[in-house]
Amino acid sequence: MKLLLKLTITAVFLCISGGIMAQQNAALPIVKSNIKGINIYGKTVDNQTRCQHWHSDLDVIAIKFKCCEKYYPCFSCHEEEADHKPQVWPKSEFDSKAILCGVCGSELTIAEYQASGNTCPNCTAAFNPGCSKHYHLYFETEN
Ligand SMILES: [Zn+2]
Ligand SMILES: [Zn+2]
Ligand SMILES: [Zn+2]
Repeated sequence: MKLLLKLTITAVFLCISGGIMAQQNAALPIVKSNIKGINIYGKTVDNQTRCQHWHSDLDVIAIKFKCCEKYYPCFSCHEEEADHKPQVWPKSEFDSKAILCGVCGSELTIAEYQASGNTCPNCTAAFNPGCSKHYHLYFETEN
């Protein structure tokens, strides 16, 4: 009798923890994002440019894509939502304002962003240093 009770409790517990895990894995709800009048496209989940793909504390920049001149939080957002292939910014246009700080809403040029040391020059918010691994998806790079 005691054993049966224990088994029942274990089964109930497993059920509950399974439910919680499923919830954590579910995609975050999409929030239509607008920062100081600038629309952020893609699968945004807050008003600081975080998206379903990248949403850590440090994921607070959006990139304006050269192809459509629209701000997206990340490459995957553009891939899943835009109806065209992405274009990277050529070096000759690195003085274009194409990076948006999701914390203060200021727009940086690509050159300013690359020289920023992953800190917003306007509000000192920290940007994700890991983004530099993905520069080639957005900007022309050496090769
Ligand atoms: Zn585009
Ligand atoms: Zn994304
Ligand atoms: Zn800022």
